[in-house]
Amino acid sequence: MPDDCCGETRFIADRMLGTLTRYLRFMGYDTTSANQLALGNTKEDTLLLDMAVQDHRILLTRDAELARRGKDQAVLVRSEDVMEQVQQLIDSEQIERRVTMSRCSLCNTLLREANTCEIQNAEYAPKDWRNISFRWCERCRKLYWNGSHGTQLEERIGKG
Ligand SMILES: [Zn+2]
Repeated sequence: MPDDCCGETRFIADRMLGTLTRYLRFMGYDTTSANQLALGNTKEDTLLLDMAVQDHRILLTRDAELARRGKDQAVLVRSEDVMEQVQQLIDSEQIERRVTMSRCSLCNTLLREANTCEIQNAEYAPKDWRNISFRWCERCRKLYWNGSHGTQLEERIGKG
């Protein structure tokens, strides 16, 4: 498996693909979202294309016209179902079937190992720490652990 930083496909997703964005982050893929942009930009499509080119990201879109404009830099996501969307990207060899829990699903920041203090202060954390690896988003100050989202997601993605 390649290192997180080297040569992996990076994505930018349109506003229709919020759930896919979160899934890709759980799968370890650097994914920015149009949802992070301010609303009301009438040239948002052009902006997304520019960002894709400048930042070397594949533009994921449900908009056929936008995908056509993006040429090789864009992928038209065909299904409305998130698991079918993941499967399309696996089939086209853009991504691997895996769950890394290495990025924050909310903000795309790389997670680091949580320290004891952070785990203890999170009231939503499980109290039995055995066999659990905790991770932390510095930006959202949010605790993640295998099983919080991972177990369910791993099952869904693992089945294919
Ligand atoms: Zn975050």
